[in-house]
Amino acid sequence: MTNNLSILGSTGSIGTQAIDVARKLNIKVSAITANSNVKLMEEQIRLLKPEIAVMYQESAADELKLRVSDTNTKILTGMDGLLEAASIDSADTVLNSLVGMIGLLPTLTSAKAKKNIALANKETLVAGGDLVMRTIRENDVKLLPVDSEHSAIFQCLQACPEDRFLKKLILTASGGPFFGKKYDELRDVTVAEALNHPNWSMGAKITVDSASMMNKGLEIIEARWLFDVDVDNIDVVVHRQSIVHSLIEFVDNSVLAQLGLPDMRIPIQYALTYPERFVSPAKPLNLWDVGNLTFEKPDYDTFKCLNACKDALRAGGTAPAIVNGANEMANSLFREGKIKFLEIGELVSKSLDAVESRPIKDVSDILDADKNARDFVLSSI
Ligand code: MG
Repeated sequence: MTNNLSILGSTGSIGTQAIDVARKLNIKVSAITANSNVKLMEEQIRLLKPEIAVMYQESAADELKLRVSDTNTKILTGMDGLLEAASIDSADTVLNSLVGMIGLLPTLTSAKAKKNIALANKETLVAGGDLVMRTIRENDVKLLPVDSEHSAIFQCLQACPEDRFLKKLILTASGGPFFGKKYDELRDVTVAEALNHPNWSMGAKITVDSASMMNKGLEIIEARWLFDVDVDNIDVVVHRQSIVHSLIEFVDNSVLAQLGLPDMRIPIQYALTYPERFVSPAKPLNLWDVGNLTFEKPDYDTFKCLNACKDALRAGGTAPAIVNGANEMANSLFREGKIKFLEIGELVSKSLDAVESRPIKDVSDILDADKNARDFVLSSI
């Protein structure tokens, strides 16, 4: 159970919901960080009275300092600030809800500072899986999943006392706004259409990842590392209602699922209170209101990112960091209107052949692979 929390990414969708959860559970928040949202950061400082607040962008940090000069909160900036928040003495748990590869060094730093990590930043596990898991084990800290699917699997696994009882993991996918469309029908879809997710309200990057199904590809890789399960024992099923958040199958073909309304405060709270449970601000699930639950196979031909992520896992080494880096760049170029939607999947698939993958010895191998993949995408457009 968390008593004192540091939140990396406090002004984002996960961060703001985590503050909601922490306040209801009387969890003290000692550090908060954000990229550039000065206005919300000031509100959070006045509400939470943290020891430190980090604005990643320096100009925003300067502005924030002026605005909160009447408080005792210390304002820091840049990666140095993030790493200080990731290892602050007073916190026992760090919630990493940063978006993208920028979360890698803070995750490693938190583990080395003996903090438990509630992880919503899937990209760092995707890019640095083996290294991150090794660092977690060496420092004997807990890595608690916040991603709804992985929280579901983690909750189901509480009923699996030995690894040999488990046969496979089944990740559910909403299918995003383009489920059922064929490849050719997606040629001219717009950014606004990609951002129109049917069930979840999330940040822009992950919503586009959900539309391309890259999000599910990343989650396959994330699940492989979190639960030490081979890629061939991780299935994906499209479940449009987002009520079943994922399932596990035992060797006797018994299947367990975790259900709930699509509200991230449930997995956030479980990560912070594990192994305990408390009353949640999320609404209860009434199955009669939901009515029907449907399950379908994903369309691997249209949503190319899924197989690219599986191939990257099989290739090993820095290959997952390459598909992740290629996607971060392609996703951002699509949102800026510089490439078409289908090019995301094409560039992610091509990056595996175009960028050389290496074994991971240390963090520089991961950062190099990420940069090479981004450069490949930029040089391809
Ligand atoms: Mg998810």
